[in-house]
Amino acid sequence: MAERHPKPYLVGDHLALDFLNSQVRPGGEPRDWLNDGAGLLAWLTEAGAIDASVARRLRRRGEGGGNLDGVAEQARELRKWLGEFVDRHAGREIDRDAFVELGLLNRLLARDDIYRQIALTLTNAGGTGPSRPLQSIQIRRWTTPDRLLQPIAETISDLICNADFRLVRRCDGDGCILRFYDRTKTHARRWCSMAVCGNRAKAAAHRARMARSQDGLSKA
Ligand SMILES: [Zn+2]
Repeated sequence: MAERHPKPYLVGDHLALDFLNSQVRPGGEPRDWLNDGAGLLAWLTEAGAIDASVARRLRRRGEGGGNLDGVAEQARELRKWLGEFVDRHAGREIDRDAFVELGLLNRLLARDDIYRQIALTLTNAGGTGPSRPLQSIQIRRWTTPDRLLQPIAETISDLICNADFRLVRRCDGDGCILRFYDRTKTHARRWCSMAVCGNRAKAAAHRARMARSQDGLSKA
């Protein structure tokens, strides 16, 4: 699977925007990490949305007739919905009117099955300060494969309720569709990544400058 699915672009600085970036068009050629159930599991694991043990469990269950590919299709629909929502609201503050658009997301959140347990705190050798021996943790029952959408629904609700949508932007790169949450102090982030679109833009500007100065030389 690692060969089939290259590393996802995790440049969104928010898991919900990374989810949106699970479909890209590098050089115009479409690439989709969520094209099937295996791709969805790989993406969720790589992005840190689920534990590798959960992916293994659901993959095994999937072989027994579960419908992971169908869940990937639901994930693509959710991504499409999120993309349209972000396009409508990015660049300004979310207002109360947005609430009426959230039916699909709230229905998804409503079907979750999580519960709490008290567990022993793992002792961390390098930790500083006293830690309490017991902790209350949240556990999700992965009853059916479509529960894979719950952590995504959760992170989308976090984006909508807690992020400043004025700082949700699309990369300035020519033809680049990646989005990110600008958490820089100056709020001046322009690129999905400096290494890709930033450098490409710098190189293009350099070429344009060279062409202008060549032009100047030939006229002289
Ligand atoms: Zn870009």
